[in-house]
Amino acid sequence: MESLFSDQDLYPSGSGNNFADIILPVPIPRMFTYSIPHSMQPEINLGARVIVQFGKKKVLTGIIGKVHNKPPQAYQAKPILEVLDDTPSVNPLQIRFWVWMAEYYFCHIGEVMHAALPSGLRLSSESKVQLNPNYDRETSKYPLDDREIMILDALDSKPELSYDDCEKVLSIKSIHPILKSLVKKEAILIFEKVQEKYTPKVETRIRLMPELLASKNALQEVFEALAGKAKQESILLKYLRDVPVLQRPKANSTGLDKATLLEEGDSESSLKTLIKNGIFESFKVVVNRLAEEEPESEPAVLSTSQQAAFEEIKHQFESKQSVLLHGVTGSGKTEIYIQMIREVLDSGSQVLLLLPEIALTTQIVTRLKKVFGSQMGVYHSKYSDNERVEVWNGVLSGRFSFVVGVRSSIFLPFDSLGLIIVDEEHESSYKQFDPAPRFQARDSAIMLAYFHQARTLLGSATPSFESYFNASQGKFGYVELTHRFGDASMPQFHLADMAADKRKNLLKLDTTRILRERIQDALAKQEQVLIFQNRRGYSPYVQCEDCGWTGQCVQCDVSLTYHQFSEELRCHYCGYKEKTPSSCPACGSTQLTTMGMGTERIEESLGLLFPEARIGRMDLDTTRNKHGYQRLLDEFGSGNLDILVGTQMITKGLDFGRVTVVGIWDGDRILNFPDFRAGERAYQQITQVAGRAGRREAQGQVIVQTRDPETQIYAQVIKGDYFEFFNQEIHDRKKFYYPPFVKLVKITTRHTDYKVAEKAALNLHHGMAEIPIKKIVLGPEKGIIARIKNQYQFESLIKLDRSSNTGVIFKENLWKITEELKSRPEFRSVRFVVDVDPS
Ligand code: ADP
Ligand code: ZN
Ligand code: ZN
Repeated sequence: MESLFSDQDLYPSGSGNNFADIILPVPIPRMFTYSIPHSMQPEINLGARVIVQFGKKKVLTGIIGKVHNKPPQAYQAKPILEVLDDTPSVNPLQIRFWVWMAEYYFCHIGEVMHAALPSGLRLSSESKVQLNPNYDRETSKYPLDDREIMILDALDSKPELSYDDCEKVLSIKSIHPILKSLVKKEAILIFEKVQEKYTPKVETRIRLMPELLASKNALQEVFEALAGKAKQESILLKYLRDVPVLQRPKANSTGLDKATLLEEGDSESSLKTLIKNGIFESFKVVVNRLAEEEPESEPAVLSTSQQAAFEEIKHQFESKQSVLLHGVTGSGKTEIYIQMIREVLDSGSQVLLLLPEIALTTQIVTRLKKVFGSQMGVYHSKYSDNERVEVWNGVLSGRFSFVVGVRSSIFLPFDSLGLIIVDEEHESSYKQFDPAPRFQARDSAIMLAYFHQARTLLGSATPSFESYFNASQGKFGYVELTHRFGDASMPQFHLADMAADKRKNLLKLDTTRILRERIQDALAKQEQVLIFQNRRGYSPYVQCEDCGWTGQCVQCDVSLTYHQFSEELRCHYCGYKEKTPSSCPACGSTQLTTMGMGTERIEESLGLLFPEARIGRMDLDTTRNKHGYQRLLDEFGSGNLDILVGTQMITKGLDFGRVTVVGIWDGDRILNFPDFRAGERAYQQITQVAGRAGRREAQGQVIVQTRDPETQIYAQVIKGDYFEFFNQEIHDRKKFYYPPFVKLVKITTRHTDYKVAEKAALNLHHGMAEIPIKKIVLGPEKGIIARIKNQYQFESLIKLDRSSNTGVIFKENLWKITEELKSRPEFRSVRFVVDVDPS
């Protein structure tokens, strides 16, 4: 990786260089070389946006990725047409990072650019027409017709025309053929007009006319004039209540925003009258979407063991770039992060803290905000584009030296990172599945830190095998916290045997006796309960009791999921939905039952068993909108709910003092997945969800319901011996060639025709088998779901030797093979999706 750039490449400008490689938003795996006109040389900076001609007919906007003196071998370089930015939009470290990402994840740098720029900053396009600078009407060999001449005449007086403009010039609708002909005659160019999509937020504010504050009497007179006009008077009174103009006349200058002024139901038309009569005036201001907040609390004093861990991390950073902080749930990792962040910020460097998707709205952010106030930016996946651009600009301007964000925040324009923290580093949501770049944010963060000469701190109670392995090899530093903060003890586990309870007739609505008893106890003591149900593979569906019919998606080979609330059957892969039938579409029977057990059904069962309990449910359905998740957490946190039923979402970093019982509804469901990571994931998930219990004085109780209590992994989780568990599993990983011992690449071949998909996948397979490197090629196999959105899919799995050279050779050959296949007419619309380090 180091060889990709020399130091000289890092801060070059155009001076003395004649060529620039441009990153363009096209699906071709490389940059494109253009020549730098002499006059432009001083303006050419790495990371600046430029306009170039691409192919014969298109003009595109791209970013300068490299400048150099090597003319392209295969073609004559065209000149850059225009430089858009004086100061680069993207800094050299970012470009270096993009190049690495495209290289490592086998994707196109244009795709990385697309993912990296918030869409508000992306170059949006609108087709425009301009004269071709090389065109000369006098000497051109192509004759023109009347309409074409009219367009060219119009372009003589205006440098560019939109499609609309052209239609107006000719007063006809379909101008495309004419423009196409002009392009062919090399008279015009069609280009994409660049626009900045970002729009600042403007607020309408209202204030008293300044004259009215000049003398005491003026306001008095206004009141007299308004006598009997209750509606207008009410607005004036509200204003005077909210804005202390009488005590502080200056307060009038910022006024009050219109929405607040009218929030008590006053009418807009009365306000208009007041403005018309010169009592109020309205004005507009550009406002920050992100609220300003000052720090309001100090970092906590670390306990002795936290302090020791903190010192040890710093000590290890002297010799290691990355350190794994392995601290049991509730050990107080957050406060250690806070101390680390403080120190790095004080030294003048930037800090990035990565959190898994959903954890962003939780307590940890509130805690950090209290300590760091407005120097901390939050980058959330549910933010609007404009909000994201504001964070982006805040990093650029130095307003945010510290950002807390989801995986995509690794693309923010940091220029001097000192530390990246990846909290819950084992979380699978750090991996982007779709679209490309399919990156792992934890791994990418380590690389990003390397480019910045920064440090990476990975924190988890249940480290990923990759990180634990790296630590065991001495590649990462390793610091452990084995006790919870304060007096809290680790929770006590109970394995509840569902089969045994069933035999003894003790199983009620799928709950074991012990689970019911513990819930009952907790409720009696006014403590809280969390019930966890694994999401994957646990969707309820509707089945006919007579003929066995189940609803199937029309586009995918999957059963439709039953949604009780909306009385619908839905496909979770493509979104297809239909009303739940009242009788079987196959045999007409009305004996339709719900199979499987989703969170909805659990909520219902618990409602029957504990009628007095207030029960909430947290899953994809109840948290679809931006605030749904927060609202449920607030309700639970404030004690308005007794039981919270949820999927993976409730495992993530929640810290509620009154939770004493955690029930795992069906432990076996967590274990049984045909995936080499199944064991690792199960250990992590059970430990994490259990870790929500008993985080203060009272000891937590964890009940795992299972039909197979002898399963070894339960014993290991209960013992909490991660080391032992790891040692056993890692042995198998090595024996069967799985990560971290090999680099895995998954290639999915997709097509609407089963036969075509299969044939293409087989051809790909043979091609890959011949690549002369150390590797294992498995498959192609039908995807776990054979068809999604009408596309059949076949998966090949490649295990590559870890040495970097192997990856490069494999990638180059893979492009050649897929390009060759796609050039055959039969495979033209086949898609090959490449996923490096799939999870
Ligand atoms: P983890 O992330 O390791 O699971 P948390 O950071 O959530 O643990 O800490 C567990 C609990 O202990 C939290 O309620 C936190 O506020 C509290 N805590 C941790 N360290 C301190 C400290 N030094 N002083 C006071 N409270 C602390
Ligand atoms: Zn579907
Ligand atoms: Zn039927």
